[in-house]
Order: sequence, then structure tokens, then C-alpha cells
Amino acid sequence: MAMIEARGISRVYKTGSVEVMALRDVSVDIDAREFVAFVGPSGSGKSTLLNMVGCLDHPSSGTLSVLGSDVAALDRAHAAAFRGEYLGFVFQEFNLVPVLSAFENVEYPLLMIRSWPPDRRRAQVMKLLDAVGMADQAHKRPDELSGGQKQRVAVARALVSEPKLVLADEPTANLDHDSAHKVLDLMKRMRDDFGTTFVFSTHDPKIMQAAERTLTLEDGRLVREQRA
Ligand code: ADP
Ligand code: MG
Repeated sequence: MAMIEARGISRVYKTGSVEVMALRDVSVDIDAREFVAFVGPSGSGKSTLLNMVGCLDHPSSGTLSVLGSDVAALDRAHAAAFRGEYLGFVFQEFNLVPVLSAFENVEYPLLMIRSWPPDRRRAQVMKLLDAVGMADQAHKRPDELSGGQKQRVAVARALVSEPKLVLADEPTANLDHDSAHKVLDLMKRMRDDFGTTFVFSTHDPKIMQAAERTLTLEDGRLVREQRA
């Protein structure tokens, strides 16, 4: 089954009398277990597209199916439930809660969306922190961690509820070159170990080489597709 099936999706932003076509007639299929990147310069529509796949926004036209669900038709509450059940997110700014430890940050989604007993929750959090090489830093707060370490915790948080699909919008944009590659290697290993599909975005040509398939956006259009 296609993980993502977009057919002719467009997104128009209206601010006052000005209309911006952020996406124009984009069609794309992404299969389970793929490791794919949307690439393109700033303003090309990468975030707009990821936001729609992540059920954070609706297309203005076209159809979009994620895991076989017509996500464009979901209202706010159903979209939130869909995200909690099937999706994980990694952000450019890490978005860890500053007052919580690494452990508590990773535990947080489980508290929200899974009614697991504490023992099972703790075991799952430690499994993920271990998988990203951060088990020995579990007690530390984000301000005690480097950028690369923060993003490893964020990857653990994205995966803790065992989502089918992880969306990562410019996950390496705030990292130095070395940390960026480590985070991408880590995400790829998570794909191999957990079978999770990864879709990320980047405007960095050095980073896009880590993807198995790149889909290039220019001015809201999908202009190129390349397999590694
Ligand atoms: P990227 O992530 O590739 O940098 P975006 O998806 O953020 O690109 O933006 C695509 C286009 O849509 C840009 O021209 C941007 O200015 C515009 N845009 C994005 N979000 C909004 C918004 N909320 N309101 C109006 N215009 C927006
Ligand atoms: Mg963006």
C-alpha cells in the first residue's frame, strides 16, 4: 500500500488581497519503508507539503491519502487523533520541552496518546533512548545537551509511539555538518530496525544525498525525482 498518495494537490495562501500559490498540482506516491527527501530552496513549498501530509493543513484542491485515509477530509479532532496514532514529527528547532528531562520529553507523547501502565511506558522510553544512543543522558534537560544530542532525543520522541510514518521538516538545519549526518544515519537505521517510513525535507545539497529518493520542489511544483 502507498504510504502517501497525493494527486494534483495545490495550496493557495490568501493574505488580504494577495494570493500565494505555495503548491501547484503536486502528485506523488511514497511507499512504506521509504527514506525520502523533499528538497528545494527556501520558499519552494516543502513545509507546506509536509504540513498537509502531517494533517496540520488542508490542500486547497486535489486529493491526499495517507495510510489509505483521505486526510484532507479530516476535521481538527480526527486529524489530531490520526497524528497521534500513525505519525511522528521531528522539527528543525528540536521543540523539546525545556523543563523536562530527555526521558520525560520522550515519555510525553505516550502519556498523551497511549494508556499504557508505567512499567511498559518506562521500558518503551528507555528502548528508544537506547536506540538513539542517549540512554545514559536520560536525566539531562535539553539545555545540558548539544544540538545533535537534542535531535537524537527528538527522534526518539517521534518514534516512541511506534508511528508508521515520521515527518521531519529540515531536521538538520540547526546542526553542524557532522551532527547532521549522524542524525540522518540514525533516522535511516530507525527505518531499518522499526520499519518506519521517513519523509524529510532539506535545502542542503550535502544532506539530500542521504535520501534514497529525492523529490525536488521549485516554486511549488514538483520538478524532478531522483533515486540514489
Ligand atoms: P519551504 O518550506 O520550502 O521554505 P514553504 O512551504 O514554507 O516553503 O512556503 C512556500 C510558499 O508559501 C512561500 O512563498 C511562503 O512565503 C508561502 N507561505 C508559507 N506559509 C504561508 C502562510 N501561512 N501564509 C502565507 N504564505 C505562506
Ligand atoms: Mg520550510
